[in-house]
Amino acid sequence: MKPFQYTRAVTQQSAVEAIAKPGTKIIAGGTNLVDLMKRGVATPDKLVDINNLPLKSISINKLGHLHIGALALNSTVSESALVLEQQPLLAMALKAGASPQLRNMATVGGNMMQRTRCAYFYDTTMPCNKRMPGSGCGAIGGYNRMHAIFGTTDKCIAVHPSDMCVALAALDAHVIVSSRKGERVIPFTDFHRLPGDNPEKDNTLADGELITGVTISHNNFAKNSYYLKIRDRQSYAFALVSVAAALEIDGGTIKAARLAMGGVAHKPWRLYDAEKALVGKPANEDSFKLAAQIAMQGAKAYENNQFKLKLGPAAITEALKHAAGIV
Ligand code: SF4
Repeated sequence: MKPFQYTRAVTQQSAVEAIAKPGTKIIAGGTNLVDLMKRGVATPDKLVDINNLPLKSISINKLGHLHIGALALNSTVSESALVLEQQPLLAMALKAGASPQLRNMATVGGNMMQRTRCAYFYDTTMPCNKRMPGSGCGAIGGYNRMHAIFGTTDKCIAVHPSDMCVALAALDAHVIVSSRKGERVIPFTDFHRLPGDNPEKDNTLADGELITGVTISHNNFAKNSYYLKIRDRQSYAFALVSVAAALEIDGGTIKAARLAMGGVAHKPWRLYDAEKALVGKPANEDSFKLAAQIAMQGAKAYENNQFKLKLGPAAITEALKHAAGIV
């Protein structure tokens, strides 16, 4: 591992000042960054530990929105009474992610910043445009079973690995970031990005910006929401396909719907057309199957991930059935 400096930030201001310098990275739980450093994929000159900053609280803010600090642990959020009562979809997604040990270390901000688990990205002997821009993509002509079916380019077909982020995208969360210029709020669905021509950039965070929290405004989805994760190993694995489904149902008719998928794109993949198709329809299997068909329009598989074209709509239908309570 490349030698690096390590310091602890004691104030948010000092953290913001520290990350304004090139070659500096933030560390909190370190559950992904340390792996990346051990493998020589990330080579920071300096790490700024922000674990002492007061960014751990889970509360209702002045606007009545649920506010979760960037340093709240994944395990704490998944067990929070407020989250379980108001946004159970988020708790379900968090519990589906990683292992209990990792959830006890990983933070909300770190979860958002984790990098793809594409094997070629982690193998420094292989080409990878995300790790080394312009070197090529090992996965496109290689083994691509875990890779994307939406939003890919000839530069990168990796998927975002988070479960939590799929739920936050479905719930129209917002990300609060701080920098020398002040505070900025980013819609969660705009936070992660598609690979385009520069897959080395995972998100829209500007240089020198620190994630301080996430907010979710009040909604009526608590009663009818579900996170379905399909993976090779129930105990601990990244999603082959996952679905965050949230419905507002009135007298058997869908009043509002939110749907997002994981394991299928470079970012949590929101299914807007399928959501629109659900509104005004009866909350039954026929409606859900139709929405699932619409959701898969434009999907494109590679040699080893063809199965996702069938698994995707089946998972959407199943997640919606669970959300509606008709399983
Ligand atoms: Fe790298 Fe993306 Fe290709 Fe994986 S899919 S090898 S992360 S460029």
